Amino acid sequence: MVPERLLRQLENRAQKGILRQLQTPAPGLVDFCSNDYLGLASSPRLTQLVEAELAGNHLHGATGSRLLSGNSVYAQELEAALAHFHHAEAALLFNSGYAANVGFFSSVPQRGDTILYDEASHASMKDGIRLSFAQSFAFRHNDLEDLQTKLKRAQGDVYVAVESLYSMDGDVAPLQELAELCQEKGLYLVVDEAHSNGIYGPKGEGLVVELGLKEQVFARIMTFGKALGSHGAAVVGPKALQEFLLNFSRAFIYTTALPLASLATIKAAYHLLPSLHQERAHLQELAKAYHTFTQEAAVFSLFSGKQTKNGPIQTWHLPGVKALKQLSFTLQEAGFDARPILSPTVPAGTERLRLVLHAFNTQEQLQQLCSLLLQHSPSVIL
Ligand code: PMP
Repeated sequence: MVPERLLRQLENRAQKGILRQLQTPAPGLVDFCSNDYLGLASSPRLTQLVEAELAGNHLHGATGSRLLSGNSVYAQELEAALAHFHHAEAALLFNSGYAANVGFFSSVPQRGDTILYDEASHASMKDGIRLSFAQSFAFRHNDLEDLQTKLKRAQGDVYVAVESLYSMDGDVAPLQELAELCQEKGLYLVVDEAHSNGIYGPKGEGLVVELGLKEQVFARIMTFGKALGSHGAAVVGPKALQEFLLNFSRAFIYTTALPLASLATIKAAYHLLPSLHQERAHLQELAKAYHTFTQEAAVFSLFSGKQTKNGPIQTWHLPGVKALKQLSFTLQEAGFDARPILSPTVPAGTERLRLVLHAFNTQEQLQQLCSLLLQHSPSVIL
């Protein structure tokens, strides 16, 4: 027996054409969809390194929480290396970026405090904020004026939460201005670097390091499931923050730790990361080419979203869920995997194709994709 209400909600989504379903990527499609920006998830070099690291070791599960049997010298050495790499005092591993955000926001900002967060922030930040006893206000996406307005209602310790590279819009936060404001007003800036980790910075340390803002940022959430091609996450920041989280963050405490295989994959991915200059440069070139394409076809830039983007996440906006789904289907038939992002992942009316560029995509593939986008976007809007 299933409650009637659940069935009604599913039916409602189906009627709007936004019912979520699991899809297996068709084999052989050119990947313009995954978050494997640098191609590490399928890198034979990474596989070799991990196999060598794990050789002869049969410990599959971590056997408990980090605070009980799940800790290891290996995990602690990895955390020290992560802190060093990201120019932070300390790092604490979480099982995923989702867990890191929930663990951070539900424990660090407390009753009497205030969280001001960008409205386009990831669901995991919002879920952590919902679990927190602090009051919270969303400010308009990348809008510092609105942030200042909301700041008037703030009390206690004030946390400002943003992403460095936004996952669904592909634009970046005005980190410099945010850092200045936070410093001037004594606010704690928290930056989710899920999509910028590995991509920006001389060795892939993230956007905060690239911009030289590490001193002004209180905490960074670095995830490993995207450019690092692995899984898991770490909160990096002051030593006292690490100590606080391992004492009070329930998403860290009450869960089985990452298994050795995951730790070894993260370690190996970080070993490769600094050398991937060409991959990072190629990504920038692809982003530039997509930008030029949308600029040149001025009328079509309607579809590219408003913000300038120079990162791996690009968008193509079409009004109407049906038209978007059809476009994605047409692209798949032509050999390209590019998926529509629908409500409620993005606000209704702003559905878009999320086009993800990768170091392994060629300029030719991108040009083919662009031609298909032009060819198959409905003429009524042009
Ligand atoms: N933060 C952001 C900005 C994300 O886009 C995501 C994943 N989509 C997460 C956190 C969650 O990371 P993970 O997939 O490692 O749980």
